[in-house]
Amino acid sequence: MIIFRQREPLEQKLQQLQREGRRIGFVPTMGALHQGHMRLIETSLRHTDVTVCSIFVNPAQFNDPKDFEKYPLTPENDIRQLIAAGTNILFLPEVREIYPEAKPYSPDYPLGQLGQVLEGKYRPGHFHGVCMVMDRLLHMVRPHDLFMGQKDYQQCMVVKKLINLLQLPVNLNIVPTCRENSGLAMSSRNMLLSDLDKANATGLYQALLHIKENSWKAPLSALCEQAKAKISAAGFDKTDYVEVCDADTLAPLGDDADPELPKVALAAAFIGGVRLIDNLLL
Ligand code: AMP
Repeated sequence: MIIFRQREPLEQKLQQLQREGRRIGFVPTMGALHQGHMRLIETSLRHTDVTVCSIFVNPAQFNDPKDFEKYPLTPENDIRQLIAAGTNILFLPEVREIYPEAKPYSPDYPLGQLGQVLEGKYRPGHFHGVCMVMDRLLHMVRPHDLFMGQKDYQQCMVVKKLINLLQLPVNLNIVPTCRENSGLAMSSRNMLLSDLDKANATGLYQALLHIKENSWKAPLSALCEQAKAKISAAGFDKTDYVEVCDADTLAPLGDDADPELPKVALAAAFIGGVRLIDNLLL
C-alpha cells in the first residue's frame, strides 16, 4: 500500500493510473477503522482495479467542538487493517492539505430539504462540512466509483445530491450496514462506550426493528413513539429523533403515507454521552 500525505503526489499517481485505464474506487473515512469500513474496502477491491482509502477527521463537519476533540484516532491499527485487506493507496492528509486557505472557500451547496431534516436539524452545519470535504476529496481522487455505508443513510443521499450538483462522473455505491452480533451498527464512536452502554446500545437497533416489523399493521406515528420509549428504556439518555421518511427524499412521512412508497426508519440518540445513529429500510 502506498501512503500519500500530500495532495500533489497523490494526484500525479492517480492521473497515471487513470491514463493506464485503471478503474479507481474510493472509500473516504475518518479512521478508527472497524469491520464496517473494511466491508467498503472489500467491495471496492472486488469492483475496481485500484482502491483508494482516505483517513481525514474533517473539522468542518463537527458542529460540536468536544465531539471533534474526543473523536477516536487509531492510525497504526488502521494502516495494519488496510494493508491486510489489500488496499492499494491510503491518503492520510493533514488539515492544511485539504484546507490550505486561512479561511477555506465555502461555497453554497443547495441541498434543499434534504439538508434541513434529521441530522441537518440536530447538527447544524454538519452536511455543509461533509459537502466541503467531499467536494475537495472527489476533485483530488477523481474516482469512478465511490463506496459509502448505508449506516450514514442521510449522508449517502446528501453526497448523491452533491455529485449531481457538481456534475461529477462518479458512481455512488451504498454498502449495507455492518452490525455486531447484537444488532448494534458498527461505528468508530462505539469505542467511546463502556461495556454496559455498548450492550444497551443495541436498543437503538431493536427500536428500529420494532418499526420495521410492525410497519404494515400500526400507524407510523404510534410506532415512532413506541420506538422512542424502547430507546429510553434501554438506557439511552436522550433521543434526538425517530422518524420514518421517504427513502429517496427523506421527507418525513405521516400515518397517511402511501404503503407502496419505499421508506426508511432513522434514529439518533445519546448513550453515555455518545451520540449514535442508525436506520433500517422498511
Ligand atoms: P466514518 O469513518 O464514520 O466517516 O465512515 C466512513 C464510511 O464508512 C462512511 O461511508 C460510513 O457510512 C461507512 N460506515 C461506517 N460504519 C459503517 C458500518 N457499520 N457499516 C457499513 N459502513 C459503515
